[in-house]
Amino acid sequence: MTDSPHKILPVPDDDSSFFWEAGRDGVLRIMGCKSCDHLIQPPGPICPKCLSRDVAPRDMSGRGTVWSFTINVHPWFPDMELPYILASVELEEQEGLRLTTHITDIAPQDVRIDMPVEVYFREDEGIWLPSFRPSPA
Ligand SMILES: [Zn+2]
Repeated sequence: MTDSPHKILPVPDDDSSFFWEAGRDGVLRIMGCKSCDHLIQPPGPICPKCLSRDVAPRDMSGRGTVWSFTINVHPWFPDMELPYILASVELEEQEGLRLTTHITDIAPQDVRIDMPVEVYFREDEGIWLPSFRPSPA
């Protein structure tokens, strides 16, 4: 269950490489605007809220809640472990700040909307993939 099936790795660019490397430090980082405090996801060089270019990666708590999820049962790749849970997780730092990710360490039938989850990372070819699992009570 813990080994979730990321098989197509993201290709980091100048704007997103910090995001894919942050897991090396065990921290989830999101681009933040220094002018208006807005968190920007996916990361970009300009704040969409106030158009400032004064943006920099910021450490997150790694805590969030399940906003939506789907259970995948289709074997898109030959060695996929099925089923797995694909989810949109809303981070606690900002309403509407969501990551598309995997939920692991729980049976698919036990996942619930609004369930508290926390980030962990899996490294694959230098890419640190944020995944989430249920928060301890
Ligand atoms: Zn801003």
